Amino acid sequence: MKKLLLFILFQSLINTPAFSQSGSQQSDQILIKNAIIIDGTGSERYSGHILIENSLITQIGSFPVSEGFSGKIIDAAGRIVSPGFIDSHSHGNPFDTPRFDNFLAMGVTTITLGQDGSSPGVDDIESWMSGVNDLGTGPNVIHFTGHNSLRQLANAPRQAGLNEQTISEMQTYLADALAAGSFGLSTGLEYDHGRFSDLQELIKIAEPAADAGAIIMSHMRSEDDDAIEESIRELMNQGLESGAAVHAAHLKIVYANDPARADAVLQIMNSARESGLSVTGDVYPYTASYTGISILFPDFALPPNSYREAVETRRNELADHLRKRVNSRNGPEATLLGTGPWAGKTLKAVADSLNKPFEDLLIDDIGPHGAGAAYFVMNEEVMKRFLTDPYIMVSSDGSPAMRHPRGYGSFAKIIDDYVNGEGLLTLEEAIYKMSGLPANTLGLSDPSVVDTPRGIIKEGFAADLLIFDPENVRDTATFGNPHQLAEGFDWVFVNGVALIEDEERNEKLPGDVIRRR
Ligand SMILES: [Zn+2]
Repeated sequence: MKKLLLFILFQSLINTPAFSQSGSQQSDQILIKNAIIIDGTGSERYSGHILIENSLITQIGSFPVSEGFSGKIIDAAGRIVSPGFIDSHSHGNPFDTPRFDNFLAMGVTTITLGQDGSSPGVDDIESWMSGVNDLGTGPNVIHFTGHNSLRQLANAPRQAGLNEQTISEMQTYLADALAAGSFGLSTGLEYDHGRFSDLQELIKIAEPAADAGAIIMSHMRSEDDDAIEESIRELMNQGLESGAAVHAAHLKIVYANDPARADAVLQIMNSARESGLSVTGDVYPYTASYTGISILFPDFALPPNSYREAVETRRNELADHLRKRVNSRNGPEATLLGTGPWAGKTLKAVADSLNKPFEDLLIDDIGPHGAGAAYFVMNEEVMKRFLTDPYIMVSSDGSPAMRHPRGYGSFAKIIDDYVNGEGLLTLEEAIYKMSGLPANTLGLSDPSVVDTPRGIIKEGFAADLLIFDPENVRDTATFGNPHQLAEGFDWVFVNGVALIEDEERNEKLPGDVIRRR
């Protein structure tokens, strides 16, 4: 009797969903109790319970839990509960790998596709988005509209100085994509077609994004030590002249070994920020990049020029270029091929096994479009300087298929190496860089930008959540064995649905395509 009275007393005092005895939603309730909550804003951890109802976080705090609660209860005692991580630069095709277990296993609950200037479904964003939504995905999916794809759609010539009509056609495509819910423009200025664009074009094509309050995610013109400052200035000018927020993707300085070089880049970003521009960037925690082998080839061997003609008429010059370029990038032993019959072998090893110079292997067997590769051209101290800047977030730049461990390990490696290992970041700082900061940058935490805000632990926000003991978090993917799932995230929720339960991935695909308003 006393117990019943107490229960009624609690109910009338608190009157919370955690206590409701009736109603059809009872079974949809999940209570995570005794959590150590790190909310993703950078604030210090605190203790409490979190109630999930119908895909949302509906209550947070130290409310008492009654015996009458009949939803699911997870005891998180001693473990951290944080927002699911948001990957600000990802790759992959939801129609090939809708589960995206590589991302989920490292705590990523939202990925951003359409990066580096190249995006799917640009001619009909609406049907691409509804197609992905109908299919269902593990993590949520965000779409960016690629500048290179827009150029192709508008039949732009591979040259600078586009005419007004072509630019206006590209602007219309972008405005339509933004209206359908795409999150902004991505550029890939080192790739076909983006490398042909000039600053005037970049400013013009940023205007629809500025009008919509959307962001420019840029793979910059060059990441080489002797060109990075010019490249970052071009991005700042694109933002300052158009009024669009800008974001430097996968920040790195190829060949640089002095962290002061990172300071020089960050200083350019800071001074643009002081002029009122919104400026952010992301970084992945590895010292090798990964991209198509065309990055080694000279312009005269790349479209619109004929590769065959280049080989026939300028072979010595081509060989000379490749030899110098590869040697300046730490030599053929620092180029790890990632595709075709060469996957997992260095350029040096394959050339040695065929008994030919590596430049001949590149010219005759691989060609500019014949492989992707990891390039060991970065310095960890430079990467760490970027990582600790308050406006720089974590990304993976990875995918399920790419032969680089970043697609499977990045977010776990940040906790394993730079929180637990070196103490470079506190866990609160690291989680902010992996949830609240990308959410704020993309507009995901803003109810005026998206229907359901997410990215921090707050009442009314989407229940994208992780439960983990940071001591157990581990990246296991390596360059030799890049497709190994990260470990240590005991529970992963996307939109209130657990898809990793006690470290076991189930069959569920609760991810949504998130649309920008
Ligand atoms: Zn890129």
